[in-house]
Amino acid sequence: MQKYDVIVVGAGPAGSMAAMKAAQGGAKTLLLERAELPRYKLCGGGVANWIMRKFDIPEDVIEREYKNIVTYIPPNYEGQVFPMPGLGYFGVCRDKFDYCLTKMAMEAGAEFKEGINIRDVIMEEGYVKGVVSSDGQVFRGDIIIGCDGAHSIVAKKSGFWKLWFGQKGENWRDHMWFCVGVEVKMDKKIIDERFDDNYLFFTGREVAPLAYGWLFPKRETVSVGLGSFLFSMNKKPWSYMDYFLNKHPVLPKLLEGGKIVLRRGAWLPIRHCQRPSYGNGVLFAGDSVGMVSPISGEGIYYAVRAGLEAGATAAEAVNIGDVSTHFLSHYEERWLGVMGEQLLYQEKLFLDTVGKALEVRDEKLRHELYEKRLLEAIVGYTQWIIEWILKRKEKAKKD
Ligand SMILES: Cc1cc2nc3c(=O)[nH]c(=O)nc-3n(C[C@H](O)[C@H](O)[C@H](O)COP(=O)(O)OP(=O)(O)OC[C@H]3O[C@@H](n4cnc5c(N)ncnc54)[C@H](O)[C@@H]3O)c2cc1C
Repeated sequence: MQKYDVIVVGAGPAGSMAAMKAAQGGAKTLLLERAELPRYKLCGGGVANWIMRKFDIPEDVIEREYKNIVTYIPPNYEGQVFPMPGLGYFGVCRDKFDYCLTKMAMEAGAEFKEGINIRDVIMEEGYVKGVVSSDGQVFRGDIIIGCDGAHSIVAKKSGFWKLWFGQKGENWRDHMWFCVGVEVKMDKKIIDERFDDNYLFFTGREVAPLAYGWLFPKRETVSVGLGSFLFSMNKKPWSYMDYFLNKHPVLPKLLEGGKIVLRRGAWLPIRHCQRPSYGNGVLFAGDSVGMVSPISGEGIYYAVRAGLEAGATAAEAVNIGDVSTHFLSHYEERWLGVMGEQLLYQEKLFLDTVGKALEVRDEKLRHELYEKRLLEAIVGYTQWIIEWILKRKEKAKKD
């Protein structure tokens, strides 16, 4: 049996940041990861400027800077360019990027163990007290931070899935897209010529019904993906990818000469962030608790910010000796304070635009309206966030 103050499960962006902050706060911290790092993670890899500025991410981890979104929407699929002036949006490959954050956690003093697959939690008198790995190792901690992604074992086994989904008569599938993606290797010069500083966005029911597809160019590969709720797909997910890669009016030409080097599927929690994000002896950050934009599917920024708040709160709780929900509820106040405005604005925008389209009963009309409204939501949020950042910069100057 191994005993720590704080145990973080999952070394994605949320987990590494939580472990880093907990260790910096003086807690004896363990970060557990199922995979061996660096590990591949299916993702567009679009990362917000805030992270790059805050952590001085090395140049070799940043594959590309995006300055425009280009959209291809039925029925005419003409590329429409939407600039993102001053926003700062970067492309990374998740193996290198996530490993870079994990190294920061280790440098801060967190112990890192990889190849440890957590399969259960230890519950005692209503508190989460530890975790158990599939090879029977027991790790006890005063606080467990569940950063183990969309299918969080920590959330399932400590009763949070039942609380979040079951009591509303819903199923986890009602909250998640299933995504499929490929990495396409291409000549660097061709990538520069074809995509420059754009990332691409595609709608259409043949690509991703009531959802969307994307292309993020990196240095020597492009990441192509699509996702949808399973209930809105009427064929297998990979059949949509087959159409997208081979029969779509635009994409096959853009990928000409490329070679698919990797194919993966993954779940993305998309509907809204679950609450509460804390319990007795437990906190959740990132995908484990659905901290993802309901409009764009962006989750790295929210995972990082929530991870930092979770780690800081956990260290404080251990230091004052109170790991009850009473103290840990501060965590939710804290993450709402740093990123709640953005997430809640997007939830509202989503409901006012895309949500209304989804209520339309006629199927053809529903899809047409959805495509229009999703674009409005994406462009609307991009404008809102640019203005929001400018306002904050102005305020910081005045202060
Ligand atoms: C197809 C796709 C495209 C996306 N594109 C973007 C994008 O362009 N930009 C963006 O910002 N977001 C994107 N996202 C969302 C983004 O990937 C997530 O929001 C982000 O990775 C969340 O970070 P996390 O640390 O919470 O979880 P993850 O990054 O999923 O990390 C969880 C970690 O926990 C580990 N783990 C899981 N279970 C266990 C276990 N039982 N025991 C031990 N370890 C475990 C996993 O191996 C993993 O390393 C995309 C997601 C998908 C699926």
